[in-house]
Amino acid sequence: MDTLRQNDPQAIIEADKRHVWHQMVQHRIFDSVDPQIIVEGKGNRVWDIAGKEHLDAVSGGVWTVNVGYGRTEIADRVRDELVKMCYFAGTKGTIAGATFAERLTEKMPGMTRVYYANSGSEANEKAFKMVRQIAHKHYGGRKHKILYRDRDYHGTTIACLAGGGQQERNAQYGPFPPGFVEVPHCLEYRAHEQGGPKDNYGEWAAERIEEVILREGPDTVGALCLEPITAGGGIIVPPEGYWQKVQEICRKYDVLLHIDEVVCGIGRTGTWFGYQQYGVQPDIVTMAKGVASGYAAISCCVTTEKVFDLFKDAEDPMGHFRDISTFGGCVSGPAAALENMRIIEDENLLQNSADMGAHFIDRLNGLMESHKVIGQVRGLGLFAGAELVADRDTREPADERKVQQVVAECLKDGVIIGCTNRSVPGYNNTLVFAPALISTKDDLDRVADTVGTALTRVFG
Ligand code: PMP
Repeated sequence: MDTLRQNDPQAIIEADKRHVWHQMVQHRIFDSVDPQIIVEGKGNRVWDIAGKEHLDAVSGGVWTVNVGYGRTEIADRVRDELVKMCYFAGTKGTIAGATFAERLTEKMPGMTRVYYANSGSEANEKAFKMVRQIAHKHYGGRKHKILYRDRDYHGTTIACLAGGGQQERNAQYGPFPPGFVEVPHCLEYRAHEQGGPKDNYGEWAAERIEEVILREGPDTVGALCLEPITAGGGIIVPPEGYWQKVQEICRKYDVLLHIDEVVCGIGRTGTWFGYQQYGVQPDIVTMAKGVASGYAAISCCVTTEKVFDLFKDAEDPMGHFRDISTFGGCVSGPAAALENMRIIEDENLLQNSADMGAHFIDRLNGLMESHKVIGQVRGLGLFAGAELVADRDTREPADERKVQQVVAECLKDGVIIGCTNRSVPGYNNTLVFAPALISTKDDLDRVADTVGTALTRVFG
């Protein structure tokens, strides 16, 4: 039956159309077009069911396949581990779990403990629960509030939505749990909309966080959860001075710093973690996507020994972290993650991400000359965004239908790019690029050339 299907593309498309509930799409679209089925991948190229080759500049759609497709080494390692010991959870450990936890924390000075889960949302939930439990155990329940930033995204569960800065995603899913409080974004390009200053914007933006802590009462604020570089909210590279000030504020008010590295982690920005670009020391770090590059479902919530010790209380029978993740016991995750990490090291992919990223951002900046619709190019490593505007002076966002047309034109030409997708007018105007960390100059030149052609077709 399976073999038959392999040879019958139309049957597969029909099965997909009839039975798969796709993510992030109004399914009425499939009344007029077929869903695209991706059947094979190698490096940063994928082939669809019609046999068409695409250069994938978004690593599997949502910035995940950091080491590229077709890595037989990962598949072999996972297979070898699985036939020996596929799974054990709860109080017991596994060889792959212990080994990866050690390797991972070696890359994260100051961080020592790894709690395994399966998705970015789940890892963030773990972090939120840790903060809440610390509040109960050590602060009589008071220090329970979790601050999140406008435009940041932390996942799709109810608590992650409550603690996410893309409020429009919340429509129709409330009511939400209380205790999540928003702080302003730090997008310098739109500082004028916030009444922000021309100089020292970074420090000013961080001080807005301090303002919220003071308003809420520092004794009620347990943690601040931030993306190192806001991803889906517009590839917002924080302004100079921002992170240093944020760290200072967290220390001043005894607020745990939780950094969401679900996108930026594992080499995306040219260092193992995005926060390492800014010299800050977090208390909690969550990660998912690139940890195993999508070859297995794994996420991690990593903490300092200090945070871990807050749960080690022999006097309190309910005091340990009373969480569980069934599939946190899957060996496929850490096995794939170990091999993923080895590939990044052996192939020097952090350096490649930094070097090729700088080249690509140069190329995008070069497009600004002939394409007035590009208002700003932002990014770090192989993670970049180009914000499109109707007018460079007013910075009014470009028509989002046209932005989506640019994505569609690139797809026609065999290059998969993305754009911000916030479901509200005015925010879906940034083209997004996160190619695999193996990408070459030629690949990236092709992406930039294709985007240039698409911009001409759509905007003239
Ligand atoms: N945090 C960030 C920064 C993300 O971008 C995402 C997903 N795009 C998540 C968390 C949630 O991850 P997941 O979809 O694996 O639950």
